[in-house]
Amino acid sequence: METILFLAHTEQDGSLAKPALEALSAARFLARQVAEATLAVGLAGEDPAPAANQIGSCGAARFLGVCGAEFAVPRYSTDAAAAEALVRAAGATLIVAPSTSRWARCLGGVAQRLGGRTDTHITGIAVPEGRVTVSRWYYRQRMEALLARSHRPWFLLVDPGCFDPWVGEPAQAALEPVAAPAESRTRFLEFRSPQAGEQTIRPDAKLLFVAGAGWTKKQADGKVHVEEAADLILTFLRKTQASLGSSKSLVDLSGEGQAVLPFLSHLNQVGQTGATPRHPKGLATCCHGEEPHVVGWRFIHERRAVNLDPNCGWAQGKADVLYVADAFAVLRKLNELL
Ligand SMILES: Cc1cc2nc3c(=O)[nH]c(=O)nc-3n(C[C@H](O)[C@H](O)[C@H](O)COP(=O)(O)OP(=O)(O)OC[C@H]3O[C@@H](n4cnc5c(N)ncnc54)[C@H](O)[C@@H]3O)c2cc1C
Repeated sequence: METILFLAHTEQDGSLAKPALEALSAARFLARQVAEATLAVGLAGEDPAPAANQIGSCGAARFLGVCGAEFAVPRYSTDAAAAEALVRAAGATLIVAPSTSRWARCLGGVAQRLGGRTDTHITGIAVPEGRVTVSRWYYRQRMEALLARSHRPWFLLVDPGCFDPWVGEPAQAALEPVAAPAESRTRFLEFRSPQAGEQTIRPDAKLLFVAGAGWTKKQADGKVHVEEAADLILTFLRKTQASLGSSKSLVDLSGEGQAVLPFLSHLNQVGQTGATPRHPKGLATCCHGEEPHVVGWRFIHERRAVNLDPNCGWAQGKADVLYVADAFAVLRKLNELL
């Protein structure tokens, strides 16, 4: 008999964020599909009671909470201690957790302490013929594998954007306190955000707009037009609220002392050595569409590109639509229409 534990930490405001609610959907799915399974909730935070009430009607048999100011902040030792205590208290065999930076950092270690196993970056869960099977991608989303394990406890870290977040009415949950050691030699100081000026990465945006190195290259008049490029791109982003991605070449240019777009950092890079964002649509501009870049488009459903070169990578079956056009002219017109 499986005991499924939905494991989450609270956010700064004490609530559960979308990735946690997505993992809860995954845990509930497992609890429904696996015969004789029970579902428990395990929460860590300064005061997890409001978060427990937020999901009070999710159908869990037990709500367990590790409480204390030490568990409000991200820190390996206290996060691991809280997770370990919650898994032990629940007697969990399958642990479903959102792939947040906090859990991704410590749950491998927690599995080791408990003699368990961990699988990360899970994008799907199925239970064919009663056997729990999870899917994940390898080699930068080029190959998909289905994994099943008989070993327990088994920790499943669910990637964000793969399950619909759980929705339901809040309800009073009977939270059982669980003790965990709060001592640590590590002191949490503060959160620091990258000096990105304007917020350009928006994971929930409908559109991913990618800027390639072409924006900073010499144009037909023999000159570069970086300031105009920056203005066109930022205007487009403000008007559409799209998320901004970039090719590696463009974000690398800043390190090479070339004219660059100041609002881009390596956090914007999409591709093999960059991110694999999830958006319904993508528009690539001045980007050649080479394989190490396009592999990061694995989860972009509808793809379009603007490039002067009709033989660019996007034309080789990597985009649904390629506009062979000057991206400066296209964006100028688009911004006007918007
Ligand atoms: C191991 C490895 C890992 C890598 N990982 C990544 C990765 O994670 N992400 C990544 O992006 N790359 C990655 N790369 C690099 C990748 O192979 C390419 O070099 C890079 O993506 C090229 O960037 P680009 O298309 O912006 O620039 P370019 O190749 O320079 O292309 C610029 C394009 O702009 C077009 N252009 C110029 N002016 C205009 C205009 N006015 N209108 C329209 N189009 C115009 C040109 O026709 C050209 O196609 C990796 C490479 C390796 C070897």
